[in-house]
Amino acid sequence: MYSLIYLSITPYFLHMDFYKKITYYEKKMGKKLSIFGNIKASHENHENWEPLWKNATPKKTYDFIIIGGGGHGLATAYYLSRIHKSSNIAVIEKGWLGGGGTGRNTSIIRSNYLWDESAHLYDFSLKLYETLSQDLNFNTMVSQRGVLNLAHNLSDVRGAKRRLYANQLNGIDSEWLDTEGVKKYCPIINTSPDARYPVLGSTLQRRGGVARHDAVAWGYARAASDAGVDIIQHCEVTDIHVSNNKVVGVETTQGRINAKRVGIAVAGYASNVAKMAGFELPIATHPLQAYVSEPVKPILDCVVMSGAVHVYLSQTDKGELVMGAGVDKYIGYGQRGSFNVIEEQLSACMQLFPLFSRMRVMRTWAGMVDTCPDASPIVGKTPVDGLYINCGWGTGGFKSTPGSGWVFAHTMFNDAPHDLNKAFSLERFYSGALIDEHGAAAVAH
Ligand SMILES: Cc1cc2nc3c(=O)[nH]c(=O)nc-3n(C[C@H](O)[C@H](O)[C@H](O)COP(=O)(O)OP(=O)(O)OC[C@H]3O[C@@H](n4cnc5c(N)ncnc54)[C@H](O)[C@@H]3O)c2cc1C
Repeated sequence: MYSLIYLSITPYFLHMDFYKKITYYEKKMGKKLSIFGNIKASHENHENWEPLWKNATPKKTYDFIIIGGGGHGLATAYYLSRIHKSSNIAVIEKGWLGGGGTGRNTSIIRSNYLWDESAHLYDFSLKLYETLSQDLNFNTMVSQRGVLNLAHNLSDVRGAKRRLYANQLNGIDSEWLDTEGVKKYCPIINTSPDARYPVLGSTLQRRGGVARHDAVAWGYARAASDAGVDIIQHCEVTDIHVSNNKVVGVETTQGRINAKRVGIAVAGYASNVAKMAGFELPIATHPLQAYVSEPVKPILDCVVMSGAVHVYLSQTDKGELVMGAGVDKYIGYGQRGSFNVIEEQLSACMQLFPLFSRMRVMRTWAGMVDTCPDASPIVGKTPVDGLYINCGWGTGGFKSTPGSGWVFAHTMFNDAPHDLNKAFSLERFYSGALIDEHGAAAVAH
């Protein structure tokens, strides 16, 4: 009898003791996410998680305002506070954090760009990704599973090899796989010489892969909020106040907010927001679509991209295939695309992966991409003093999020570009020093 009572209550006491220990360790670790915190939360049925960031009410004046709560805006705020020890910063987002391109992309990260300027910037970003989870104390699920860029004809092969040699000269890992090598690395690709898109070879960047896009936004938001950055959601910037060619603040749906320096990081909306300050950008905004299949068992353990046929895909941890398409050719802000683009992309995908032919597409969506004539971003000063712009990342701005935030924070803090973004100024469209990365972009635009 006694032993029965003992057996039934002991686990309870043990559990209590354990629970207290967890609470003790969690308190000791402050707000750090930890295994103890996770165990505690699971014991509380996940009902008492603290919000990841505080929703702030706007103050009258800030030293730095960043318009746009996507990955780039949030990373900028985080590095302004962490690297430059600035306080009094606000991120102003008209919707919800990560609701733009940041939460809609196919999450591919890589750095195999052609020109030195891009290669250095994107590789810096990839290096930041490699330690981002530790840096933010938030699991950004970076998975360096390798990225293949397929070549389907002689011109593709020449372009790919040219990029590969340039990458190697820049110390960026990149190797060439012939058709057999591709088949060995990713056996499910159709490499038959009779295929509609024969695979003549591929570059492989083993350090490339994917990261969890929401986690990148949330991780930066949490770390920035912890450092005292005001995160203001559902607040649209409707005008930019300029006096004597110097920015002095912004008008928002929650009233006027003064600022010494303002950074614009609104991706597809960049031209509209720049117009508020009286200047134009060489940006065209297009819809870009993506979709996921129903989930299946692990079948694809790398990222496969084909710029020529606009196929890029990977498999998520849940088993879905995530696929991206080419841009819809018209200018559009609606965050929705046309069916013919999906149809063309899927038909090319079926040629490359015939074994997916009976799978079903579960969901499709679109975002907006801000494309520049040379397929490179604009990160730097604007004609208005104290106003800075970060845009034009087009179809490839997720991979650059940490690096872009880092150099934009530097630019805003020092009123001068970082070495890594000097070449990406707005002036290049006057000087002609364009950085043509059309060949390295995921899709043509
Ligand atoms: C379908 C798709 C697939 C993609 N795939 C990849 C990929 O695999 N790899 C890759 O590297 N890139 C990819 N991209 C591109 C990438 O998603 C973007 O370049 C990147 O997310 C841009 O981030 P951002 O922070 O600059 O902009 P966003 O995440 O778009 O954030 C900008 C924010 O600004 C806010 N905003 C706009 N106007 C205002 C205003 N007036 N006031 C306040 N807030 C405002 C918006 O609401 C938005 O939240 C893809 C894009 C799409 C659409």
